[in-house]
Amino acid sequence: MIEEGVERRIAFRWAQPKRTYDVVIVGGGGHGLATAYYLAARHGISDVAVLEARYIGAGNSGRNTTIIRANYGVPEAVRFYGHSVDLYATLEDELECSFIHQAKGLIWLAHTETAMRAERARSLLNLACGIETVMITPQEAKGLCPQLDLSGGGRYPVLGASYHPRASTARHDRVVWGYAAAAMRRGVHVIQGTPVTGLLRDGDRVTGVETASGPIRARVVLSAVGGNVTAVAGQALKFISTADYVQPLATKYGPVYYPLTLTKSVYQKMPEDVVGLGVDNLLTVNANMSEQQVYDILKTFFDNQADVQAIHPEAKKFTLENASRVAPVPFHPGAIKYYTEKGVYKP
Ligand SMILES: Cc1cc2nc3c(=O)[nH]c(=O)nc-3n(C[C@H](O)[C@H](O)[C@H](O)COP(=O)(O)OP(=O)(O)OC[C@H]3O[C@@H](n4cnc5c(N)ncnc54)[C@H](O)[C@@H]3O)c2cc1C
Repeated sequence: MIEEGVERRIAFRWAQPKRTYDVVIVGGGGHGLATAYYLAARHGISDVAVLEARYIGAGNSGRNTTIIRANYGVPEAVRFYGHSVDLYATLEDELECSFIHQAKGLIWLAHTETAMRAERARSLLNLACGIETVMITPQEAKGLCPQLDLSGGGRYPVLGASYHPRASTARHDRVVWGYAAAAMRRGVHVIQGTPVTGLLRDGDRVTGVETASGPIRARVVLSAVGGNVTAVAGQALKFISTADYVQPLATKYGPVYYPLTLTKSVYQKMPEDVVGLGVDNLLTVNANMSEQQVYDILKTFFDNQADVQAIHPEAKKFTLENASRVAPVPFHPGAIKYYTEKGVYKP
């Protein structure tokens, strides 16, 4: 059911840019506008401008799947997004803006034993971090979502699922507008159609931004441009070489660590190549794994290299010679058997 009044007009008070601010935020997506709002609402910093190249919400924030959840796979993310789920629960009241926030719960289906293991691990990790994600049976999943086809098309029946009850959705464009309007009510300037084209600098310090309508100075410049970060920050981005760590690590763990050059073509406006720390990809297995299983994994991988390379060209670097060259821990007997058979193993 659509909530009443959801299309109530949101009042924007667009401002002309000043020549100087305490804080300039580049990018009018969820992150930029939320930062502006919280600076003004929680920290009393309202001499803030948000400069948006196109229109607010023009980036990812206006075109995502709109799921608000905390059932992530690493503890830091679980806790971080747990806070986000809590914030969303009262955000409509706080921003005085309805964005159809609805807690619906999220079901992640598992169709294989491997997927079941992954979902069980997710559930345990989430619970350990204080976030409710529980395993449910296929029938329980169907009870929550009667439209489900538990047969998985006949080939991959649903074996179970993890269920995260607090997950919700929201209308993402209105979240952006809500933050913008609430920030503006507190004196923040939100300026659309103003791409930042460069950074003003005094030595190593960023002191403002360049725009088509002239420079804007600021004590602090925050980049919140989503995927465009290297295009904006690339003006001042400095890569620090980690080459000094190569030798000590290689001495301790073997030549899995080596010097790797990040060429200047990788990021826009990178002035020169930078040598850093390279590390081999390693496939590690439990020592208890059977010799035959490890042998079969390697055989499957190398017998099907063309397919693997079609999935990701980086796999062209995985050769028998490279794979058997060096390991920081002893090779598994199954690996020794396979590499010996192939004539590449050097004890
Ligand atoms: C298809 C898809 C589905 C997703 N689904 C989910 C989901 O279900 N749940 C979830 O939590 N997250 C989801 N995400 C991720 C989420 O949408 C993003 O993490 C989030 O919107 C990023 O917000 P942002 O403010 O950092 O970036 P953006 O919203 O991308 O905002 C960056 C803004 O910067 C502006 N900009 C760029 N360059 C400049 C410049 N030089 N000067 C001025 N302005 C500039 C852009 O126009 C843009 O408006 C999804 C993302 C995508 C793409």
